[in-house]
Amino acid sequence: MRAIVTAPEGMPLVVVRVDTSDDGLYGLGCATFTQRYAAVVAALEEHVAPLVIGRHPSDIEDITRQVHYSSYWRNGPVLNNALSGVDQALWDIAGKRAGMPVHELLGGRCRAAVEVYSHAAGATVQDTLDQAQQLIAEGYRNVRLQVGGPGLGTYGAPGSPGGYPRSPHPDGWDAEQYLRATPGLFEAARARLGEGVNLMHDVHSRLTPKQAVVLARALEPYRLSFLEDVIAPELYDRLPEVRVASPVPIAVGEQIGSLPEAARLIRGGGVDLVRFHTSSIGGLTPTRKLAAMCELAGVRTAFHSPGDISPVGVAANLAVDISTPAFGYQESHAYNDATHEVFPGTRVVTDGHLTPSQKPGWGVDLDEKAASRFTPTKFLFEQWATRVRRPDGGLEAP
Ligand code: MG
Repeated sequence: MRAIVTAPEGMPLVVVRVDTSDDGLYGLGCATFTQRYAAVVAALEEHVAPLVIGRHPSDIEDITRQVHYSSYWRNGPVLNNALSGVDQALWDIAGKRAGMPVHELLGGRCRAAVEVYSHAAGATVQDTLDQAQQLIAEGYRNVRLQVGGPGLGTYGAPGSPGGYPRSPHPDGWDAEQYLRATPGLFEAARARLGEGVNLMHDVHSRLTPKQAVVLARALEPYRLSFLEDVIAPELYDRLPEVRVASPVPIAVGEQIGSLPEAARLIRGGGVDLVRFHTSSIGGLTPTRKLAAMCELAGVRTAFHSPGDISPVGVAANLAVDISTPAFGYQESHAYNDATHEVFPGTRVVTDGHLTPSQKPGWGVDLDEKAASRFTPTKFLFEQWATRVRRPDGGLEAP
C-alpha cells in the first residue's frame, strides 16, 4: 500500500494504491486533504498500511472498520481521508475482480447520466452572467452564481482591492454589503437567463443563523435550487431553525469530517441537500450508507467536487450519484490537460452531464511517472481557509 502525492493543477492530490498478490491487480483510492496532505500521507504510511497488508481485499467492511477503530480516537478528516484512500482502493479492486464498474456492485444505474452544475463567478454581475450564459451554451442546466464585491469579494469571485480604504483592513469582507448586493445578482440572472436554468449560490459559511434567514428570504423570488453553506460548521445545531425559516433549499456538508457527524446532519432536520466531501468522511463505504439514509429521510445529495478531489474521488462520487434514488445535484470541475495525463480515464462533462466509466472498478488509472513531474509546492494551501477578514480586521469563519 502506497500513498502518491501529485499536483498537476497546483493543488496536492493524494491517491492510495493498494497492490494485491494477484499479478497486475491493484486499486486506487482518493485521500486528498489539500490543506493537510502530508499528515494524511504520514497517517497512511506510518500507521494504516500495517493494518491492511496481508488482508483479503474483498473484506472491505471489516478492513475499513478495523482501520477506523484502531486509532481509538477517530472521526477527524486526516484519518478519514487516509481511510477513504484504502476504502476506495478496495472497491476498485472489487470491481476489477468482478469485471464490473463499481456502480454495478452498488445496485446499478437509477439514471442514465449524472447532471452536474458548474460555477459562474465574475467581478461584476455582467461578468458573472456572461460566464453563466457560456455554460448554458455548453449544455449546463445548473449554474452556481457568485459575484465579486468590495475588498476580497464574495466567495469564489474576484473582489475589488481596497474596498474599505479607511478601515484597518481595506480588503475586508462585509456581511451587510453582501446581504444587500446578492439578491440583485439573482434578480439580474432571472431577467437575463430566464426561468429555464437552475441556479445555486455558495455563502461559504460567512453568515450568522439570522443573517442566513434574511438572505434566504430575500432570494425567494428567484427560486434557487439551493443555498450552500449558509453558516459555519460550529453552528450546525442552529440549522433546523434556519431551514424552517428558509424558503430556499438548504445545502450543507462539505466541511463534515466524519460519518457520525454526517449522519447527525441528515437526522437533525436542518438540511434539504447534503454536500459531503466523500473522502473526508471515509470514502465510498460510509457514503453509500449515508445515501441510503438520505433516501429514507427525504434528503437529497449534492456532493462536493472541486479541483481538490482527484479524478479517482470523482469516480467514487459518480458511482453513488448514478445508483442512489436520493441524488439531487453534483458539483463538477473541468480538469486541466496535465490532470488527464496523470489520471487516464478522468471523466469529462458533456452537455452538462457526467457518466461513470463502464470499465471494471473506477475506470480511472494513475500514471505514476507523469504524477512524479508534478510535485506539490509546500505550504501553498495551509492558510487558504483563513484569508478572509472583515474590514475591522476580525477573522471570518470559512
Ligand atoms: Mg462550497
